[in-house]
Amino acid sequence: MPEDRSQNSFDFAQAVIRWQVVHGRHGLPWQGTRDPYRVWLSEIMLQQTQVVTVLGYYDRFLARFPTVAALAAADQADVMALWSGLGYYSRARNLHACAQQVVSHHGGEFPATAHVLETLPGIGPSTAAAIASFCFGQAVSIFDGNVKRVLARFTGFEADLSDTSADRELRQIATSHLPSENPDQSMPRYTQGLMDLGATVCTRTKPACLLCPLKQACVAQRSGDPARLPLKTRRLVRRTVSWHLLLLQRPGGDIWLERRPSKGIWSGLYCPPVFASDDELLRHPDVGHATSTTRLDSFTHTLTHRDIVLHPVVCQLTESRAHPLASIDGERGLWIASDRLAHTALPTPVTKLLVRLQTPR
Ligand code: SF4
Repeated sequence: MPEDRSQNSFDFAQAVIRWQVVHGRHGLPWQGTRDPYRVWLSEIMLQQTQVVTVLGYYDRFLARFPTVAALAAADQADVMALWSGLGYYSRARNLHACAQQVVSHHGGEFPATAHVLETLPGIGPSTAAAIASFCFGQAVSIFDGNVKRVLARFTGFEADLSDTSADRELRQIATSHLPSENPDQSMPRYTQGLMDLGATVCTRTKPACLLCPLKQACVAQRSGDPARLPLKTRRLVRRTVSWHLLLLQRPGGDIWLERRPSKGIWSGLYCPPVFASDDELLRHPDVGHATSTTRLDSFTHTLTHRDIVLHPVVCQLTESRAHPLASIDGERGLWIASDRLAHTALPTPVTKLLVRLQTPR
């Protein structure tokens, strides 16, 4: 190929497709299928979560809920428990709600167009485009962070993507680069190729331009500083909060857990009672009756927008104090034994904490 091909004569879509056949990712359990249930499940799990983490969850989920109807009929607590550890728990609640809507509004079949898919809970434009292109061959572009990065660099897109009109403009560019022929065959490969390029070659900080099938016509690569794009000036502001966890333990080792409120961090999951300060925790009526109080080492749990510094305090209760308490939502909590940890919807750091606490030293 000539070294200096212009963008106009360069077939972007074909370059992506040819590269995917040889160098793209193959053999992932959700590839090679056009079953929308499986593709949808993988797309939701892969949001903000790495492939290697998703692998085990995906298999377990399918083994337990092999069809959208099985998932729709499930108890939400079972869905949450199976999701436990994947994070971003609103995804699990939406997953369940979406399955129920597919069954109740669409006869158990996923809609075939991105436009209608977007009306379902938890399915945004990019996920809708992925399902529609992978499963139904619709000519519609995914538009997640990876794809925006590849396209902004390839076209030398200098506008700030924090600006919605710039984002809209780049989306139009994405549409103009779709394969021009035979979408039913080309779209699944093209979509996968774009995802793979963004994840493995045109990475955020160190794009491997020498390995890239787009390098001959890529504007950012020619500039000598491809990682400068895309421009996004508005950055997330991280915050740090302190959570004081009260681990009420009854004779035998069980720990008292309460369900978190339906909105906010760890919503809907089970967690020891949380207090904003040590003073507040110590004012809890059961603390005064504890036979012993032990402070465990504090540790930090990192979320996308904030760091939570967790301060666990263990209070041993006598049998007479080990009654079920009312949780903050008015819902009752539960005493959990170590052999039930794997079957309860818990945030990852709480699971680790309880395993450590309930493992005999
Ligand atoms: S040539 Fe480099 S900057 Fe351009 S798309 Fe490929 S990896 Fe990204």
